[in-house]
This record gives sequence, C-alpha cells and structure tokens, in this order.
Amino acid sequence: MYDVLIIGAGIAGLSAALYSARLGLKTLLISRDLGGQAILAPEIQNYPGFSSISGMELIRKIEEQVRNYGISMLFDEVNEVKSDGRAFLVKTVTGKEYKSLALILAIGKAPRELKVPGESKFKGRGVSYCTICDAPLFKGKKVALVGIGEAGLHGALTLSEVVKECYWIFPGSTPGAISKERLNYLLSKGNVKLMPNSKVIEIKGDIKVKSIVIKDLKTGEVKELNVDGVFIEMGYEVKTEFLKGFIKLNEKGEIIVDKLCKTSREGVFAAGDVTDIPYKQAIISAAQGAIAALSAYNYIAKIKGLSTITSDWRHVPIERKEEEGGFFLKL
Ligand SMILES: Cc1cc2nc3c(=O)[nH]c(=O)nc-3n(C[C@H](O)[C@H](O)[C@H](O)COP(=O)(O)OP(=O)(O)OC[C@H]3O[C@@H](n4cnc5c(N)ncnc54)[C@H](O)[C@@H]3O)c2cc1C
Repeated sequence: MYDVLIIGAGIAGLSAALYSARLGLKTLLISRDLGGQAILAPEIQNYPGFSSISGMELIRKIEEQVRNYGISMLFDEVNEVKSDGRAFLVKTVTGKEYKSLALILAIGKAPRELKVPGESKFKGRGVSYCTICDAPLFKGKKVALVGIGEAGLHGALTLSEVVKECYWIFPGSTPGAISKERLNYLLSKGNVKLMPNSKVIEIKGDIKVKSIVIKDLKTGEVKELNVDGVFIEMGYEVKTEFLKGFIKLNEKGEIIVDKLCKTSREGVFAAGDVTDIPYKQAIISAAQGAIAALSAYNYIAKIKGLSTITSDWRHVPIERKEEEGGFFLKL
C-alpha cells in the first residue's frame, strides 16, 4: 500500500512527486510516458530560471531532480480508479493493481483525435499529432494536414518547408480565423493545396500510411489520395472518461478542483492541465503539482495522526537520499 499514487508524469505529476518524496510519503508515479506535452515544446521562454529552454531539456532537469529522491515510476496507463472506503484502488491497462491512501491525478491533456478507421493503427507510422516534431521525417514526401485556424496554419507553414506536397484538409469553406497575409505567403510556396469542405473518413496503408479517404461535405463525393503521412492539428483535450462518476468534472471533462487542488472526493487531488484552472501553462502545472502534494500530505497526516502542514509552512533543505533503484521500472 502506498501513501500516494500520482498518475501522470508531465510537469504537474513530476512536481507533485518531488514534493511528495520530500515530505516522506511512500509514493508511486504511474504514467504512460515521461514529460507529457512539455516534450513537444521546442522552446519555452516563460519558465522562471530559464530565459530559453526546450521542453525536453526542462523535463530532463526535473526528472534528474526527482530521481534524487528514489521515487518509483511505472510506465503504464491507468484505466480505472475506485475507492473501498479506506483506500483507493488503481487499475492499469496491463492488468496491474495498486492501492494508496491518497491519489493525485495529473493526467494533463492529449491531442484531439480524428476518430476514423486506421488512425489508431497508424499512430507513429505515418499519423502524427505534432507537426513541429515530425515534419522533418517527411522531407520530400506527400502528406495531408487536418486542422483549422492558427494551429492548422502553423502546421501547414512548417510542412511547406520540407514536404513535396501537402493537402490541407478542413471542413468549412475557409481554413478559419487566420491572417490573410500569412495564408497568401503559404500559398506562394506552391506546395500546399487547400482542400475546403472536406473530411478525412479513413486512413489506409500496410505497415505505414499509404493513403487517405476523404469526403466532400458539399457534394458527398468520396475519393482516395495517396499520402505518406497524416498530420492532425486539432488542439488538445482532456481524456477523463474513466473518472466519470468517481469525481466531479466540468462540461469540458476537466477535473473540478478548489484552491488546495482538492477534487469532489476526499483524498483525491488533481493538478495541471487536466484541472479546470483557466491558464494551461508549465509553471502553473508545476505549482499545482506542489499544492496537490502538500494537500495530499495533510490528508494522510490526519489519517496517521501526524501533525499537518500549516499555510505558512516552509520546507527546510533535507539530505538527499541515495537512489534506491526502482525508478523507471518498465512493466
Ligand atoms: C507544443 C506545445 C508548446 C507549449 N509551449 C509552452 C510554453 O512555451 N510555455 C508554457 O508555460 N507552456 C507551454 N505549453 C503548455 C505546457 O506544456 C503544459 O501546460 C504542461 O506541460 C502541462 O503539464 P501537465 O503535467 O499538467 O500535463 P501533461 O504534460 O499533459 O502530462 C500528463 C501526463 O499524464 C500521462 N497520462 C495521461 N493519461 C494517463 C493515464 N490514464 N494513465 C497514466 N498516465 C496518463 C501522460 O502520458 C503525460 O505524461 C506548451 C504545450 C505544447 C503542446
């Protein structure tokens, strides 16, 4: 039995882990990946302490700091959480089960999907949700881009620098609210073809993407286009379906928290982009991770009859523990 299970190892979860370990809580961090969205950020200029740092490097530094406290981390995906009245039970897609006195949910946001046949099958094999990360892999190739507004335009501009040809697919008659000058600049490059009133209905291939099937939303005409890749830039969304009925979510599916990062269920805390806080930023996720861990500590301290942390608490520097192994255990 753990004191606290932290789900998600983005900035919020890692920050919660750091605080939780320093408070002496027996902690397990379970996450699908290390770093979350931050690793997609090529450059972060607004994280205090760094005038410019890549998201990857920022995560590496936080990871190193967390490692010093010997926290166990498991790469797995949580798909069920419940309570037996005294402890929380967390289940993962690989069939493992873990118990804890408190839970910190830091599961952030994930790219919005098209939800069409072939999309899941070809993820990482031609289907990408990060143009800035993956465009260089498609140098000289033919690709499709799905997305509207600034995100779509940014994707199209990035792709136009490297690919041979790009079909920019969007459902309306225009690609959304974007600057006319930037659109004209994009079109002047000659390798991006606008595909208005269109929708991707299937992604096809063998071991990699070979083509997409698109539907003309005006005429109903269906046609197949040969492409080597499909870039999906439709923004980010929370994936909290498995928490429905367990804790209160807002209409966007975000976890409702108070200023102490408490959710509607006692003993369950949440931090970062998955919560209903209005600003989704790295420093805000880090701060909420810290608050969630402090609140979880107080909850556990009450159960164990220990003294709780007061609002004017300051943590004194503590001696760093030797790494106890077990960090980044792969299941
Ligand atoms: C391209 C890009 C650029 C950005 N640039 C900036 C910037 O310049 N400055 C700035 O302040 N912010 C920036 N952001 C926003 C910032 O990255 C996020 O606000 C922050 O990283 C969110 O951290 P998080 O820990 O709350 O969530 P996330 O980073 O989303 O992490 C969530 C973690 O939970 C894991 N997870 C999710 N579901 C489960 C599950 N069911 N089981 C187990 N694990 C799960 C995920 O795998 C992930 O590791 C940018 C974001 C992007 C995408």
